[in-house]
Amino acid sequence: MDQVFAPWRIEWVERSPSPVEREECIFCALAASEAERENRVVARSEHGFVLLNDYPYNPGHAMVIPRRHTGEYTALSEAQLLDHALLKQRTLRAIDAAFDPDGVNLGYNLGPGAGGSIEHLHAHAVPRWEGDTNFMAVIGDTQVIVEALEDSYDRLHETFAAQEGTRVPEGDSGDAERAVVVDR
Ligand SMILES: [Zn+2]
Repeated sequence: MDQVFAPWRIEWVERSPSPVEREECIFCALAASEAERENRVVARSEHGFVLLNDYPYNPGHAMVIPRRHTGEYTALSEAQLLDHALLKQRTLRAIDAAFDPDGVNLGYNLGPGAGGSIEHLHAHAVPRWEGDTNFMAVIGDTQVIVEALEDSYDRLHETFAAQEGTRVPEGDSGDAERAVVVDR
């Protein structure tokens, strides 16, 4: 059987120590958290948010996550699904403007048989360049990776802020009014 190439199988792994490590679900904790930059939450929508992956396949590797705690794509309501789709579209625009990649892998691991490790739906968006290889494996230096994440955060923050329809943290309009919404 041919190997399916799926860089988004490199899953998000919790940093330690983390201000949210006591919570049951890391994505629910991040959905309710306000430490945006510290948690690398780069944008929010009414029903979802965008998180940078701490273990990026490539610079700019982001995840688009509905607030609602479910592992089932089919469980999303129409409003949640539309919000999620629009947020994915905005994430692609932000990645294109920030990184100008040759392409993007956009996908899900739904269920344990498909490599899903967190039971909270999330789409990986991985910028790709011709001939690229796993950024983490190539760099291997923790400090360089942290600096690259900071740089990716700044770039995506800027390109999200230039778009309508999302809220971005740190003094930009909308952050102060953000309410904690629990989607069911
Ligand atoms: Zn959750």
